[in-house]
Amino acid sequence: MNNKQKNIQEIINHLKTSGFVYQNSEIYGGLINTWDYGPLAIQMLNEIKKYWIREFITREKNYQIDSKIIMNANVWKASGHLDNFSDYLIENKVNQKRYRADHIVKDLFPEINVEKTTFEELESIIKNKVKEYDGYKCDWTTIRPFNLMFKTQLGAIDNAASITYLRPETAQGIFVNFRNVTRTMRAKLPFGIGQIGKSFRNEITPRDFIFRTREFEQMELEYFCLENESEKFYKYWIQKCQEFIILLGLKKENIRIRPHEKEELSHYSKGTSDIEYLFPFGWGELLGIANRGNYDLSQHMKFSQESLEYLQEDGSKVVPYVIEPSIGLDRLLLALLIDSYEVEKLDKNDERIVLKLDFNVSPYQLAIFPLLKKLAPHAQKIYDELLKNTNFRLIYDETGSIGKRYRRQDAIGTPFAITIDFESLENNTVTIRNRDSMIQERININEITLYLNKFKK
Ligand code: ATP
Repeated sequence: MNNKQKNIQEIINHLKTSGFVYQNSEIYGGLINTWDYGPLAIQMLNEIKKYWIREFITREKNYQIDSKIIMNANVWKASGHLDNFSDYLIENKVNQKRYRADHIVKDLFPEINVEKTTFEELESIIKNKVKEYDGYKCDWTTIRPFNLMFKTQLGAIDNAASITYLRPETAQGIFVNFRNVTRTMRAKLPFGIGQIGKSFRNEITPRDFIFRTREFEQMELEYFCLENESEKFYKYWIQKCQEFIILLGLKKENIRIRPHEKEELSHYSKGTSDIEYLFPFGWGELLGIANRGNYDLSQHMKFSQESLEYLQEDGSKVVPYVIEPSIGLDRLLLALLIDSYEVEKLDKNDERIVLKLDFNVSPYQLAIFPLLKKLAPHAQKIYDELLKNTNFRLIYDETGSIGKRYRRQDAIGTPFAITIDFESLENNTVTIRNRDSMIQERININEITLYLNKFKK
C-alpha cells in the first residue's frame, strides 16, 4: 500500500485500540485534539530519543542540556516571539468558528502558494470567494494576527510583572545558556547544544491527529559555527536529518526536501529547508533545518546587555552563526506508524494488520510464547532470563491460540516471536518467527541474543 491509499481514520482507530494513543481526559468527554501516549508509543518515543542523542549529540561531540519550559518573559521579547509569533485568524460570524486564514486558502485553492501570500491577499480571497465553508454559509470578520504563545502567571500576584509564557520552542533555552555552556565546558567552535523537551503553541486549529497539537515535543540542536562555515554546516545537517529518519525506518519515497523560497524566509534566516513526509492527508513538514545567522544571540545581547560573544584563539571576538535542525517527535512518531502500517490479505477470507516497524524502534522486539499453557513455567523462565541478561524489549503472552498471539504481535509491530514447545524441553531449541515473512526457524535458546543482535543499528 502506498501512503495515499492508507486510510488515516483506520490507522487512528488501530492506534487507539491497541495501546499507542488514547484520547486525553477521555472519561470526561475528551479535550479537543489532545492525545495521550500509551505504553507502546512511549517505548517507541524512548528509542527515537536515544537514537537522536546518539546521532545528534554523542557521536557529534555536542552537548545536551535541559532548560525550563517557563523562562523570564524578556526572553520572548528578545526572540521576537511576543511581537511576531502569530498566525492569521479569521472568524465566520455565522457559526462563530475561528480558522487559520492560510489553512482555508490552502484547502480550497491548492494552486495558491499561501507562504507567498500577504494577509491582505488572504483576506480578500476568503471574503470574495469563500461563500460556504465547514458546512456553513459565510460572513467573515476581518483577519487579525493571533499570538500562539500560551500566557501564564507566576506566583500569587496577578499583575503585568507576573505574566510569562510557556515556551513555543526549546531553542531559546539554548541561546540563553550559550555562554554558560561555552565557559563551563570550555567548548570550542564549531559545536552544538541540543535539547529534547515539550513546547506549547496555542494553535488556532489543531488537527490531523498528533500532527498538529497544542502541546508537543521537540528535539532541537543549535549548532554554532563561524559565518564562513555556516553554509557547509547547513548542508551537513540537512543531510544528517535525512539519514536519521531513514535510519529509523522511514521509506525514502515518502520523504522530500523543500527549500524555502526567498519570500517565505523569516527576515533573519539565511536559508531554511523543510523535510516533508507524505502523510495520507498530503505532504507535511516533518522537521526543519534553518541557518539562523547570528540573529538570536545578537538579540539576546541587545536585550540583556550581556556579551554573548565567543573569544577566538587570536583574541578577537565573534557572535557565532547557528544552524538549527528542529525535529518534532510527535510528527516523527506519526510518520513511522503510518509508514509501517499494512493490511495484508493472507488468503480469501483472512487478513492481518501488521506494523512493519524497524527492529530498533518497535515497541517490543521479541515476543515469547509457550505453545500450550502446560509449557508456561518453562517459557516464563526463558522470559525472565532474557529480561535479566539482555536489553531487548520483551513481551510474554500465553493467552489464546498461537495464531491469534502472532496476529496480536504483528499488529503492534513486534518483529520476532519465539515459541516454546515440547521439543524445547528435549533439545533446548525454540521456533523463531519473522513478522514480515511469517517464516519460522528452529534455533538454540542460547543463540537468541546472537540472532537478534544482527538487527541492531
Ligand atoms: P507548521 O508550519 O507545521 O506550523 P512550523 O514551521 O511552525 O510548523 P517549526 O517552528 O519549524 O514548525 O517547529 C519545528 C518542528 O516542530 C516542526 O517541524 C514540527 O515537527 C514540530 N511542530 C511544530 N508545531 C507543532 C505542533 N503544533 N504540533 C506538533 N508538532 C509541531
